[in-house]
Amino acid sequence: MNGYGGSILRFDLNKGTFSKQPTPPELARDYIGGRGFGAYFLFTEVPANADPCGPENKLIISAGPFSGMMIPGAGKCDFTCKSPLTGGYASSSLGGHFTAELKYAGIDSILLEGNSPKPVYLVISDNKIEIRDAAIYWGKGTIEVEKQLKESLGEEYQIIVIGPGGENGVAFSSINHDYGRQAGRGGVGTLMGIKKVKAIAVRGTGSIPVADTSAYRKAGMDLFTACKQAEGLKPWQTYGTTIVTSWCDEVGALPTRNFSAGSFEGAKTLYGPVMREEIVITDKGCFGCPSPCGKYSRSKRYNAYVEGPEYETIGMFGSNLGISDIQDVAMANLLSDDLGIDTISTGSVIGWAMECYEKGLLTQEDTGGLDLRFGNVEAVFTLIKQIAAREGFGAFLADGVKKAAQKLGKGSERFAIHVKGMEQSAYATHNATAMLLAYMTCDVGAHHNRSWAITYDLQVGRELVTAEKVARIIWLQNFRPMFDVLGACRLQWVELAIDRDLYVPALEAITGIRRTWEDLEKVGERIWNLNRLYWIRENEGFNRSWDLPAPRFYTEPPTSGVTVGQITRLEDVHKLLDMYYEQRGWDENGLPLAEKLAELGLKAHAAT
Ligand code: SF4
Repeated sequence: MNGYGGSILRFDLNKGTFSKQPTPPELARDYIGGRGFGAYFLFTEVPANADPCGPENKLIISAGPFSGMMIPGAGKCDFTCKSPLTGGYASSSLGGHFTAELKYAGIDSILLEGNSPKPVYLVISDNKIEIRDAAIYWGKGTIEVEKQLKESLGEEYQIIVIGPGGENGVAFSSINHDYGRQAGRGGVGTLMGIKKVKAIAVRGTGSIPVADTSAYRKAGMDLFTACKQAEGLKPWQTYGTTIVTSWCDEVGALPTRNFSAGSFEGAKTLYGPVMREEIVITDKGCFGCPSPCGKYSRSKRYNAYVEGPEYETIGMFGSNLGISDIQDVAMANLLSDDLGIDTISTGSVIGWAMECYEKGLLTQEDTGGLDLRFGNVEAVFTLIKQIAAREGFGAFLADGVKKAAQKLGKGSERFAIHVKGMEQSAYATHNATAMLLAYMTCDVGAHHNRSWAITYDLQVGRELVTAEKVARIIWLQNFRPMFDVLGACRLQWVELAIDRDLYVPALEAITGIRRTWEDLEKVGERIWNLNRLYWIRENEGFNRSWDLPAPRFYTEPPTSGVTVGQITRLEDVHKLLDMYYEQRGWDENGLPLAEKLAELGLKAHAAT
């Protein structure tokens, strides 16, 4: 098939065997690739009500038709499973170089099935596939293991690896790659650890069939030329995602002390230009990226080298914990990456614990002697290590903020900042109704990358509750995740304002199938609805209460910062949901209606 590696590789880890099948053409037609393949395999192959930490759950790793091709940022790989963190749908995207090698080895998806009885790592070199003993790597950090595997296998191998967090079943463990890139969210690294797969190394030397080579070359060059000529290229390349830190602080969107405010008095020393000046050594990008946002840094104080910190990590380990020194944030970033736990969820759960401590709901007796006041950097470093090891007070936090708050009680659920059990990423949404709705309805829980709308909120009026805002969120949810389906980065469209229509001839030249963005958005809508059906199937009694935001955002206006006194009222939260369900073709509890499912070819799935 043009644009595809051509095969699906399955590992039966119970038996220690593997098999390959051709990639089904109808799967490529209806779900295209990447996140679409993941959603399909999860829904159709993981049995209903499977234990997310049991052998029936599958980790599905998928490339898309753009992966490994001459398209800007074509290094995106999707990881899908039933989430060990939320019990619902999880999908996390990884940049870097892994997905390109996967395609060159002739593979579109890897499915990890069953659980290995002992630690293993998987080595794929074109058609040569091995399951090897990983005893010598088990217990080690991600950076050391990636380095050792490259030394033993060769630099040409691309490697994904989990850390002690994943080995110890921390519910928000990440999968790491290229010494600093992560598939971070939803516990995809947790499942890899449960399956006892320490790492996967892949190299491929094949080529990908293309429908029209000269049209492909032209379409690819048009995209790269547009990126290189974009006005936004220089600032984006200089600061990467940290370009938004100062803006978020100024508009009250920077999570501060467990999202109790949206502006931080110590934020200026976390801003992009300060970070660039103080710790950044060089820029670092994914496969085929003309606008590298990765920043490779060195914290002199700790003599620590790390890729990052990027904006989300600065928000969650900086202002959210009352920490204002970028060198401290860089060190916390390095610890989390090496131990293999998600910086967003880790920053959230520690922020919640700090607030509990300051409110007297937790004492030093509970924390094992840790003084958890906001701003205590040493306590943060200790807690990161304890969480990854599931030791001390860290064990109390290792299942995520929702479960920690349920265990503690005492009203702490009110300021556990999550939706559907996933910790909210680094945008404070006290009075930004489109972004709030984006978090409430995101298909994995409170994550920003499906529909990032906070600038839109400010453009049109942050407090407004309108049908237009709701329509904008739905459009973004159908459209933006298609980049994860295609296997390319969305940030050239987001940050460089590249005309999305430039991708259309590239997709046609590669696959031989013409698809407009309207066609692609329809596929996006199908995947969105399939994921909704998955949440409903896996959670008895699923209803609109699952879509409510953290109560803080409708009960407690910030007492400091530029959003002081501002809040979204609960009745407006429900108004947003009413309009959202209606526009989606769902009922008043957020369940897709039969007509909508029929329109999307999903009617059979509703009865599953
Ligand atoms: Fe990777 Fe950043 Fe480039 Fe996107 S913009 S491809 S995330 S380096």
